[in-house]
Amino acid sequence: MTLEMLTPMINETHWQAAHDAIADASRIVVVTHVSPDGDAIGSMLGVANILRGMGKTVDCAVDGGVPPTFTFLPNADTIQPKLFKGEWDVFISTDSSDEARTGECGAYARANSRTVINLDHHATNTLFGDIHLVQSTVSSAAEVAFNWVEQMAVAFSPEVARPLLTGIVTDTIGFRTSNVTERTLAVAQTLIKSGASLTEITERALDNRSYQSVNLWKQALQSMELHEGGVLCVTITRDDFKQAGIYEDGDFGLAGFLVRVEEAMIAVVIKETEEDGQINVSMRAKPGFNVADTALELGGGGHLQASGATVEGTLADVKARTLALLVQAAKSGKRVIV
Ligand code: 5GP
Ligand code: MN
Repeated sequence: MTLEMLTPMINETHWQAAHDAIADASRIVVVTHVSPDGDAIGSMLGVANILRGMGKTVDCAVDGGVPPTFTFLPNADTIQPKLFKGEWDVFISTDSSDEARTGECGAYARANSRTVINLDHHATNTLFGDIHLVQSTVSSAAEVAFNWVEQMAVAFSPEVARPLLTGIVTDTIGFRTSNVTERTLAVAQTLIKSGASLTEITERALDNRSYQSVNLWKQALQSMELHEGGVLCVTITRDDFKQAGIYEDGDFGLAGFLVRVEEAMIAVVIKETEEDGQINVSMRAKPGFNVADTALELGGGGHLQASGATVEGTLADVKARTLALLVQAAKSGKRVIV
């Protein structure tokens, strides 16, 4: 299965249906994807805060709750780590390409809501739910949320602007990915005018990292290998986490760092998760290369240049399988910026 065989570009936006669903709703739940990043938390809080401003009762949730990096955002303390009671008129999923990505919170919200709005920007979105706000060429789920909110003709308060700018800044690595357009910059300008600080958000949500996380990189980088076609591979074991004194999951953006290496067309970080036999694969590609196909083959998803999957198996097996696919992907790509 390749991305081209699915949908190369999705622009399915039921704006009016979404407005109608919100107008009729009083209780709404917003859920984002498991292992949430800045776009997940930013798009969820931006949407939740705008709806609260409109007088709606809004719950938001993500499996495991809000990561410490994003607790500075307004109303981050309302994010629930688990859903076990409640019924809603509308469930809004943000930044999740498929239902499995919404985790246990998503499953609970879906079972207890009348209407599902799927707000996302992944090319691999499965178009689940009743109402689709899916724009795969847009930089971030936060920018899709902006496109929606803009049509509601309400003012952007700092409570809405700060999370949305966080989503854009983190998913575009500070306005540097190939999906950043004039429009993205115009949206950011509006959000800054509305009270979001680009300096604060870049510092807190993008650049800041702990000494221990760099210590984990130090451990992991000893496994670095450059394979055929420019596939740069690093593995992280549970022992690396122990050596680094880290007791949370994550690679702190290592694949994004590795793809900057001149010789790397594709970078991959293959990591043992806290769950036995579950291996996480995180991939990045230079423009002109595609890692989304490989993610789909592995049962995951993402974007052409940033994708991932969680695969059952041993580290060695998953590494062999992933590398075979990525060497092919590297051969089918062509460097566009030389
Ligand atoms: P990361 O490498 O930062 O974990 O993820 C990069 C991209 O791949 C993100 O857009 C993320 O949503 C997507 N992604 C990562 N892991 C998975 C997964 O297990 N399933 C799906 N569908 N997408 C994933
Ligand atoms: Mn995103």
